[in-house]
Amino acid sequence: MKLLKDRILKDGKSFDKGILKVDSFINHQMDPILMKSIAVEFVRRFGNLPINKIITIEASGIAPAIMTGYLLELPVVFVKKAKPKTMENMVSTTAYSFTKDKEYTICVSRDFLNENDKVLFIDDFLANGNAAIAVNDLVKEAGAQLYGMGFIIEKSFQEGGKRLRKLNIHVESLAQIKELGNNKIIFED
Ligand code: 5GP
Repeated sequence: MKLLKDRILKDGKSFDKGILKVDSFINHQMDPILMKSIAVEFVRRFGNLPINKIITIEASGIAPAIMTGYLLELPVVFVKKAKPKTMENMVSTTAYSFTKDKEYTICVSRDFLNENDKVLFIDDFLANGNAAIAVNDLVKEAGAQLYGMGFIIEKSFQEGGKRLRKLNIHVESLAQIKELGNNKIIFED
């Protein structure tokens, strides 16, 4: 997606150890015009699937997910990263955080994700794929069906893309980055 790649080159900040900061337009401050274009692209890639719901994981996935849900006129559910005391009837699993080097619980209410649901998962980044794989487990546990996973940015030098495609998950990433270094951002073709 050219518009997105151009914006990453213009406003993204890359660091050693393969970290990309996009917090002036995606992760902290958000550009709703760009976010709408991102959602239009997700609709172009996934709009033919018989889905009834969009799911994402808090917090950075919510913006692209709600824009996509708005365009498709479908409800959007975000998976929570902590178990709320008040939530009953929920399904949960554990995810491994590479950045924090620890396991954490993710959960969702069965009221909003269950065997009646055919879902598309949307998130901001695909890196090692731990978050996405945990969501895939959660969807299975809930008895729902996963039809695809869409990411704004995939860091293809990390393992997430390979891991998800090995599980036969339909993965679409709007910008694939093959190399990231200090002030260096190189996209796949
Ligand atoms: P994964 O589970 O695929 O390794 O990545 C989990 C989460 O880590 C992503 O959803 C994203 O929030 C965060 N993340 C991974 N790599 C980057 C990065 O280079 N930049 C930013 N801003 N977030 C990242």
